[in-house]
Amino acid sequence: MSTPAFSSHTPVGHFIGGEHVVNAEARRQSVFNPATGAVARQLHLGTAADVATAVAAATKAFEGWANTPPIRRARVLNAFLALLNEHRDQLAAMITAEHGKVFSDAQGEVMRGIDVVEFACGIPQLLKGDFTDQVSTGIDNWTMRQPLGVVAGVTPFNFPFMVPCWMFPVALACGNCFILKPSERDPSPSLLIAELLQRAGLPDGVFNVVQGDKTVVDALLTHADVKAVSFVGSTPIAQYIYETGAHHGKRVQALGGAKNHMVVMPDADIEQAVDALVGAAYGSAGERCMAISVAVLVGDVADRLLPKLAERAKTLVIDNGMNPAAEMGPVVTKEALQRIEGYIDLGVKEGAKLLVDGRGHQVSGHENGFFTGGTLFDHVTPQMRIYKEEIFGPVLACVRVNDFTTAVDLVNAHEYGNGVACFTSDGNIAREFARRIQVGMVGINVPIPVPMAWHGFGGWKKSLFGDMHAYGEEGVRFYTKQKSVMQRWPASIGKGAEFAMPTSK
Ligand code: NAD
Repeated sequence: MSTPAFSSHTPVGHFIGGEHVVNAEARRQSVFNPATGAVARQLHLGTAADVATAVAAATKAFEGWANTPPIRRARVLNAFLALLNEHRDQLAAMITAEHGKVFSDAQGEVMRGIDVVEFACGIPQLLKGDFTDQVSTGIDNWTMRQPLGVVAGVTPFNFPFMVPCWMFPVALACGNCFILKPSERDPSPSLLIAELLQRAGLPDGVFNVVQGDKTVVDALLTHADVKAVSFVGSTPIAQYIYETGAHHGKRVQALGGAKNHMVVMPDADIEQAVDALVGAAYGSAGERCMAISVAVLVGDVADRLLPKLAERAKTLVIDNGMNPAAEMGPVVTKEALQRIEGYIDLGVKEGAKLLVDGRGHQVSGHENGFFTGGTLFDHVTPQMRIYKEEIFGPVLACVRVNDFTTAVDLVNAHEYGNGVACFTSDGNIAREFARRIQVGMVGINVPIPVPMAWHGFGGWKKSLFGDMHAYGEEGVRFYTKQKSVMQRWPASIGKGAEFAMPTSK
């Protein structure tokens, strides 16, 4: 059944084979506006049967799309890019309404997703392959990269537009058909993506959305016709996706959680370090996989930096993300709020010094919103759970260390390895830091070093299961398989069978 997608009264359903699909019998889950705490829409959760329908639609579309010349696939993506640019603010408003992040941050998320679409528009060049003339007399050898077939993406709540864009533009550009399983918390942008792709000329069935929870994910992981799964989310689920997908013979890239450190050296510009920490710890209410959640303060930095940082954390402007003055919005759900404030209780019990307490923060006119303030702990130690575990909220833990080597060892001993930053004005320290640190994405005086669309995104250790990063050339490799072709023509073939291993002649 077709239905208009975006009124707040319409249920959030699937998009399969070019049609909006709403099943009146479906299990339902409420989607909230985190700023007001009110239910905004009802999500209809999919079943294994919905997955089977989507895989069938995608399988049917695959041959035609895979055989469409790359430049024509790129033209569809170019038309999509133009539509995305027209709908940037609509997408950003949808993100703020369901995720809660401030509107300017949501606009930034949309732009970073668009970056990947722009990258994918260059697919003819990326798929060019290579060729060796005359590997032996009369014989040539070349490689080509071909699409996998039907591939799936399972995405988290914290970037409902950008993270899907880490996956589907490259997957589609490479000639695959795609099934997106968005987060249950903020599912609406996925349907606008589907509509805009259709308006851009994407054939029906090439891009599908199945809403839902574990039931849908498990059906994707076990379906024989799904060839690859890209996942972004928390580490326990990433590990489960990786193991289950691999067990069922699929190619899997599963990006997990994080605990990102920012090391501040005594020679750093303290004002710049404070600005960086405030933005990176409290921006998006700390719900970024690249948020800084640990500040490693080297030597005498703590005494110079913490009074300024505490002042900034106390005076953050916290409000509905649609207020242009807001610096931080609510967190995504009531459960997230309780989990985050539970960690603050725990930090106090563990003996960390609470410099700024965000618990119980109230926003006037939004008394039922899921708000918490910025929280700052000092004297956190590596043994504490608030140091070891991902809190995923606006809570910054400060650890004091004596020297650079101890700072590097601390970061390297952590089980996560997504992002890291070092603030210093010493080029040699910066260079050594980048070389020695066991983390996938490194910022030198850059607090949130999310790689650009053509560089690829991925952490190390428990922040990534699988070996290929998202988007960039690694994304192209993930969504294609390499084929090597060796060719000769009868005129160059000598007489007689050969029994020895062929060598160049
Ligand atoms: P999550 O792991 O709870 O959910 C992610 C996705 O997995 C959702 O689509 C969800 O429906 C699905 N899912 C949840 N439980 C499942 C289960 N038991 N079986 C199968 N599927 C399941 O993550 P979230 O709360 O939506 O997002 C926040 C997490 O994502 C944080 O840990 C954050 O660090 C991480 N994240 C990582 C990156 C990265 O690039 N490494 C980027 C963004 C977010």
